Amino acid sequence: MIFSEVYDEGNDRVFVLRDTIEVRVPHQFYTKLSKKYSDEEIVSMHEPKVLKHHCTHRPLVYVTKESEIPLIGHTAFGLIDRGTNLIQVRPISGCNLNCIFCSVDEGHTQTRQTDFIVDTDYLVEEFAKLAALKGDDIEAHIDGQGEPFLYPYMVELLEKLRKVPGVKVISAQSNGMVLDEEKIKAMSGLLDRINLSLSSMDERTGQILAGTKKFSVEHVKNVARWCLENDIDVLLAPVWVPGFNDGEIEKIIEFGLEIGVGRKYPGFGIQNYVRYQFGKKVRGKPLRFDQFFEKLEEFERKYDLHLRLTPQDFGIHKAKSLPRAFRKGDLVKVQIVAPGRVFGEMLAVASGRVIGVLTDKPVGSHITAEITRTTDNVYNAVLR
Ligand code: SF4
Repeated sequence: MIFSEVYDEGNDRVFVLRDTIEVRVPHQFYTKLSKKYSDEEIVSMHEPKVLKHHCTHRPLVYVTKESEIPLIGHTAFGLIDRGTNLIQVRPISGCNLNCIFCSVDEGHTQTRQTDFIVDTDYLVEEFAKLAALKGDDIEAHIDGQGEPFLYPYMVELLEKLRKVPGVKVISAQSNGMVLDEEKIKAMSGLLDRINLSLSSMDERTGQILAGTKKFSVEHVKNVARWCLENDIDVLLAPVWVPGFNDGEIEKIIEFGLEIGVGRKYPGFGIQNYVRYQFGKKVRGKPLRFDQFFEKLEEFERKYDLHLRLTPQDFGIHKAKSLPRAFRKGDLVKVQIVAPGRVFGEMLAVASGRVIGVLTDKPVGSHITAEITRTTDNVYNAVLR
């Protein structure tokens, strides 16, 4: 076990694993334990310790098979099956950026209280069970509420997903900032496509949109080039935020055409900024969808491109999915197993699903909850 950083903070000795996982051991215990054990032994075996996400500084829940937290049922981690041949794989939550338009309120957040990371073997084992339902042209799409490449075991995850029968395509989303040439080389032959968020070609506008001066347009441009050099196709995915990057979308298209994105798949996935209930709210008026599609049509004509995309453009079609475990309105006896992703929420388990329940009951409680959402096998509930 190699620590990327070791330091003291407050009452804790802090060990950082692979730049992402902070293991905090209180000094009073560390001093005693270190007389008998190595740092590696203390970190891997001994309690008490607290896990935190090194980027977001939020408490981090390690979801393992032994934790008995199912991987189906929540959007913050695990697997999402929306009834097609694409399975969303979410190995970690939390982001290194702070985009002003973020639909999941990442970065400086008002709503998120906990992050999650999933053990690779557990994630792939459960993925394989789901994939077995779906035929032989499955796309594993690695995304999440945050930056997926903060997952410290990404290459292992890709290698293992590759071996799952039926997996034809592996794609991932990224803001690009934690990738470098070496990491990209290591994914050559494992990752088919990366959807790269790049919403401006101008450094200052890019940093305003990313909500941090740590963002670098130049770096993300290099990431796109390194991916193409390593046979990883690139889809540039700008979010169009009216009043901020109106003049940038065409520049992004021109950059993409120059470096040759979209070799096997569409090269551009331009998105219209949408104000989500729990997302960040940008000042000004969002573009109406009819106006947005008119603009895309104009760019299609000008650049001879296909920009109004549908799932079929990526070979996505309906496929068998898991049966729903509950119906809306069901009253279910559940056990609270972990803090929830957002304030006021706890994670509960019943019938092999994880459920986000609005409650302040502590971990270990058994409660009755009323199911309020079941779409795509994602479950929400309230205390009854
Ligand atoms: S990169 Fe994505 S998840 Fe991260 S803050 Fe920006 S929009 Fe949100």
